[in-house]
Amino acid sequence: MKRVLTGIKPSGEIQLGNYLGMIKEIIDMQNKYEVLLMIADLHAQTVPYNPKRLKILTYDLAKSLIALGINPKKTILFKQSDVPAHLYLSWVLTCISPLGDLMRMHEFKEQSERYKKEGVGAGILLYPVLMAADILIYNADIVPVGEDQRQHLELTRELARRFNARFGKFFKIPEIYIQKETAKIMSLNDPNKKMSKSIPEGCLEIFDSEKNIKEKILKAVTDSGNEVKYDPINKPAISNLMTIYKYLTKKSYSEIEEEFKGKGYYEFKLRIIEAFFDYFKEARNIKKQIKNKDIEKILKDGANKANKIANKNLNIILKKVGLR
Ligand code: ATP
Ligand code: MG
Repeated sequence: MKRVLTGIKPSGEIQLGNYLGMIKEIIDMQNKYEVLLMIADLHAQTVPYNPKRLKILTYDLAKSLIALGINPKKTILFKQSDVPAHLYLSWVLTCISPLGDLMRMHEFKEQSERYKKEGVGAGILLYPVLMAADILIYNADIVPVGEDQRQHLELTRELARRFNARFGKFFKIPEIYIQKETAKIMSLNDPNKKMSKSIPEGCLEIFDSEKNIKEKILKAVTDSGNEVKYDPINKPAISNLMTIYKYLTKKSYSEIEEEFKGKGYYEFKLRIIEAFFDYFKEARNIKKQIKNKDIEKILKDGANKANKIANKNLNIILKKVGLR
């Protein structure tokens, strides 16, 4: 059976882009593949963060994932920091990583610019290598991600090739799996920026209060004119809202255009709000019933399973590089 691995950072509340870009794919995949889903708490340390909040967000994220449809009986749901082999392999890969490639990563440039005042540590430069280790330690076949992660995955593939060439073939070259249409959901207040959970403005958090969600959708920026028409070049904001609405209602773009002919943006927004709550009603209820104790057990089980696979591979890797 093919093995799938992906991750999500406990850096904020889960947002619609996370769901449409990656989580909904994993929910499907867990029925046909072996899926490992990692809560990337070590990645969340790369920018300034609050330790108490990190712990709260980690548990909250696990609850959200389960409420949305991740089944811990099928998917190995675990915390990255519970599997030390990731860090061990990360060091091995760091030593064969071209520094120039790391400095060219978009996320490195963006985040070091964003936190210029506070200053960021070297983790922001090196975490794509840790990400490669997260994937390669399991010899994953497929990695489903949003478009923003493509560059990091290309690095992962390059590091796997380098390792194989230098130490003898061991790693599979993982397939980058990106859902075309929903791979980059844009911010509701700026259609040129992707929606990100660490930037709450313009970010639609799935489990936020009804009031906030309504407000955010009603305040979403729109384009000039008043026609609901799919045209990503000339109407980027409306087209982004249409992509969201399309997935919430399973309608096509032309059906949506037809539905709102002569009706304008305000009515469209009211329908998005309705569709959002219809779609996520069940998950929002389920989440309230999940206890911290349940999560503790699920993460422990997940860590046991993940450690078993990772440690077996680490043993072989350490022999190959001359450390055993
Ligand atoms: P942060 O702001 O902390 O980076 P994030 O919202 O980008 O948070 P991540 O934990 O970095 O979330 O990413 C989790 C997954 O969701 C990744 O596969 C990522 O590519 C995907 N993803 C993130 N944002 C979007 C988006 N706006 N559209 C589609 N996919 C997204
Ligand atoms: Mg991100």
